[in-house]
Amino acid sequence: MPAFDYDLFVIGAGSGGVRAARIAANHGARVAVAEEYRVGGTCVIRGCVPKKLMVYASRFHGEFEDAAGFGWSVGTPSFDWAMLIANKDKEIDRLEKAYRANLERSKVEIIAERAVLTDAHTVKLAGGRTVTADKILIATGAWPHLPDVKGAELGLTSNEAFHLKKLPQSIAIIGGGFIALEFAGIFNGLGSKVTVAYRGEQILRGFDDDLRNDLADAMKKRGVAIHTHAAPVSIEADGGKRVLSLSSGERLIVDHVMIATGRAPNTANLGLDTAGVKTGANGEIIVDAGSRTNVENIYAVGDVTDRVALTPVAIREGHAFADSVFGKKPWTVAYDNIPMAVFSEPEVGSVGMCEADARKTYGDAIDIYKARFRPMKYTLSGRDERMMMKLVVDQKSQKVLGCHVLGPDAGEIVQMAAIALQMGATKADFDRTVALHPSAAEEFVTMRDKWTPPKSA
Ligand code: FAD
Repeated sequence: MPAFDYDLFVIGAGSGGVRAARIAANHGARVAVAEEYRVGGTCVIRGCVPKKLMVYASRFHGEFEDAAGFGWSVGTPSFDWAMLIANKDKEIDRLEKAYRANLERSKVEIIAERAVLTDAHTVKLAGGRTVTADKILIATGAWPHLPDVKGAELGLTSNEAFHLKKLPQSIAIIGGGFIALEFAGIFNGLGSKVTVAYRGEQILRGFDDDLRNDLADAMKKRGVAIHTHAAPVSIEADGGKRVLSLSSGERLIVDHVMIATGRAPNTANLGLDTAGVKTGANGEIIVDAGSRTNVENIYAVGDVTDRVALTPVAIREGHAFADSVFGKKPWTVAYDNIPMAVFSEPEVGSVGMCEADARKTYGDAIDIYKARFRPMKYTLSGRDERMMMKLVVDQKSQKVLGCHVLGPDAGEIVQMAAIALQMGATKADFDRTVALHPSAAEEFVTMRDKWTPPKSA
């Protein structure tokens, strides 16, 4: 008789949990995964996937506008929110089924219940059953964080934004991070009047300053109002409307207020104290490079550990855990050169160091190459929007430290550039690569002139 009911019990069937469960089972472990909501987790059910589908929907607006310069007359386009939501939900259902089928094919038992720890080897299920496992993996993800503001409960989070009954005529979005800006693009493209309110100096903190400034300008040109230095003070209900008061003095009367001020690790009421698992200041589970907690047989991966909150990172952490613990193939995740996209309109793609961080490390011993140009498509369409591409290069080694793009397909371009950076490519490697013409991406292999900061008067 085995000492435990399972070799591995996974709490949470999201990006990290599903990958870990499948790989561990493929290595021969007896695995169960508990999921309290829907298999697939945030990314599939209420994150990356539905978001990107809605981004596609919203971009037709610009496509219709751009078509005229190419000789098309599109008439007056109309948009059906209910149809988009229904079709999006159908696709999410299909994906959830595919995730379930993959788990079942790997012989992972799926338990559709909330699970909490009662000691280092025991988990209690919401239905009352108790099960034991040799190893436990916590992959419970993160949850929208609501600021301590009067009336915050009257706001929507991204969770609800995917299920609105109708397209809001107006929406105020609090926050300046990627989720706030992507939803700003979605609602703006679909026809809502959008205001972004962000307490900081400039939107998209953590990204290269040129990207941040150019994105803000381009979003404004596309009709999104952006208020910076504007923290939320209160949200009030007024009939069917919401009134958002900002620290800048403005009062916005809108159909909905969306709160996108970050996400916190999902560790509340999980029994971590009972099992002796340590958490950090933000509630995140503290783990080592192998995703092991301070309790020897308990591991954690993904957003719940607050390392890099992206799906491919959670998947890698889950995979590395399963290979290392059950497959006799130990490896750890490398966190350098993680490519990132923001599916705002226009789009942002970024990998490696931004200029400000490179200056902190290398001082003035960096070279900057920068290009701003009108994408070819916009020459005939007449859209007044520039693309921005930028390389940050270490002067001494000539290694490319960072690639940053604002404009159409930025994410697709940067995924490929990330391979070059991961291989340690130098500026000379970029230069000896033949351009693909006509494309925007070719700019990365044709930039010859170093950018010099304008001389102050
Ligand atoms: P999750 O995928 O969140 O899975 C955790 C699961 O655990 C959930 O299904 C939850 O229901 C379940 N759970 C929690 N507690 C329990 C419990 N006690 N018992 C049982 N089940 C439990 N990342 C990208 O890389 N690209 C993107 O474009 C992108 N877009 C995003 C857009 C939005 C709106 C959001 C919110 C996130 C986005 N992300 C994106 C981030 C990405 O979704 C997460 O990084 C990723 O899902 C994290 O995976 P995870 O396994 O850590 O957790």
